Amino acid sequence: MAEKIILFGGTFDPVHTGHIEVAQAAAEKIGAKKAILIPARRSPHKNQKPVAIDIDRIAMLKLAIKDKNLFQISTIELNRAEPSYTIDTIHQLKQKFGGDCELYWLIGADMLKSLPLWHKVIELMDQCNISVMNRGGFDKPDFDSLIAKFDKETIEKLKKNSIETPLIDISSTEIRRKLADDEDAGEFLHPEVLKYIKDRRLYMPND
Ligand code: ATP
Repeated sequence: MAEKIILFGGTFDPVHTGHIEVAQAAAEKIGAKKAILIPARRSPHKNQKPVAIDIDRIAMLKLAIKDKNLFQISTIELNRAEPSYTIDTIHQLKQKFGGDCELYWLIGADMLKSLPLWHKVIELMDQCNISVMNRGGFDKPDFDSLIAKFDKETIEKLKKNSIETPLIDISSTEIRRKLADDEDAGEFLHPEVLKYIKDRRLYMPND
């Protein structure tokens, strides 16, 4: 049977427990033994560059997954010119892993609305499974809202590949806000990620 591999792209600025817990739950649900976190240079869906530099975002990812065998990190997008198009990443990874694997690209429910605008989205959905997860603080994914954008078959595939994950209501934006306002952000960060942030005063105002 083809090996199932989860791919989870994001800015991870910083990585939070929402990212890790939903990816873990998704892996359990589909029976994947490997989940690869792929930090983006700059997401095509965001106007701004990440706040933290690549080295810090990678270091925080390493700390967040250090006791979890499921996870790996790929710097494939950081090594390419921006913006980070998912289809290019899929092509590169397919070459690397060879034919005998099934790729699942995870996205949170908040991303579903913009999916039709993704670069070469039809080809992308042909090359991998796009798996939409629940996201705390957002409505459940509404696949039928895409009827004008995708054909019926594509919508059925998206529904079939969606994964019921726990609702964790946190975002990196909210964590950066808390840190900037000197509020406690520890609840949604791995303790070593929090320490890393504090040691380097990431996301905090300059005194
Ligand atoms: P920001 O607030 O800076 O936009 P973010 O918290 O949304 O960041 P990203 O790194 O941009 O995090 O997200 C990467 C992927 O993770 C996206 O597909 C996003 O929908 C998903 N995601 C992020 N947080 C959660 C969460 N709490 N639950 C489910 N999915 C999430």
